[in-house]
Amino acid sequence: MVQLQRPEFVWYGGRIARWEEATFHVSSEALVRGLNVFEGLKGFWQPDGRFGIVCLREHYDRLRRSARLLHIPLDESYEEFAAAHHELVGRLATPDREMWIRATLYVEEGHWGEDTVSNLVLTAFHAARGLPDPIRVGVSAWRRAADSALPCRIKTSPNYEVARLARIEGRQHGYADMILLNPAGRVAESTGACVLVVADGAVATPPAWEGALPSITVDVIEALCADLGIAFTRRPVEHSELKTADEVALVGTLADVTPVVDVDGFRFDEHPVVDRIAARYLAAVTGVEPHPSVPLTCADDVERSRDVAGTS
Ligand code: PMP
Repeated sequence: MVQLQRPEFVWYGGRIARWEEATFHVSSEALVRGLNVFEGLKGFWQPDGRFGIVCLREHYDRLRRSARLLHIPLDESYEEFAAAHHELVGRLATPDREMWIRATLYVEEGHWGEDTVSNLVLTAFHAARGLPDPIRVGVSAWRRAADSALPCRIKTSPNYEVARLARIEGRQHGYADMILLNPAGRVAESTGACVLVVADGAVATPPAWEGALPSITVDVIEALCADLGIAFTRRPVEHSELKTADEVALVGTLADVTPVVDVDGFRFDEHPVVDRIAARYLAAVTGVEPHPSVPLTCADDVERSRDVAGTS
């Protein structure tokens, strides 16, 4: 059985609420049509003892773009969005763990796009510290949808139905994640991260038009690679390149920079370029070695709230 975290508090209906309070009616569009858009964010303890959320503004902007395409109103300003994150994190953060936050805009009321009412819900979970362990992945028989069917550039739950099928497919082989190809058979992304391939020291990743979410982490990595002197290109990546590359990695807010040691049985025992990027990324998000491409939003009161929560 998977042990899922069940934090005490969530952000729901414009305030901190208890986990059990955050419910929707079975007739809501959120349930009937699976209508929502969401973001996955991450925060890290900084050397000065404050808790910093990575690229908060960028996540808000992408949430707004996803919501716009699906005609879902986002009533919260960026400032309100940020304050809600800091308040929830202030309640739930513990000193020994990082956190990831899911910000979901659910459609609570409405009918086929009329009278749409949304509800911003934040849930936050503890996450391990340090560099992620390498993983084994497979290439799924399931594919990313065409832009004309279900645009991959928006982050909405229906895009994750096929990801779920791919994960189920891969689990029987012991794969931690699966890579999805696009309708043309080229690499799109994994179920929850983007794909990097490294050949002759140069990094390539499929652009959004190949069926990947426009990744905030990829933008950061592009900037980090420029500083590290590592060539970085966004270009279509063939399926066969996954098997002939020198290194493969999955990158994303939750994945950080995860080295891949096996794609469908093709081994990648060394990952020197990926390791350099992973270390630089971790140093940037933890504030150990800040980088201009990694804006960190801290709330001064998070540490204090954590102490209060710890004593209650
Ligand atoms: N693709 C998918 C399907 C994802 O769910 C994610 C995670 N949000 C990514 C790519 C990576 O995007 P980001 O770097 O913005 O987290």
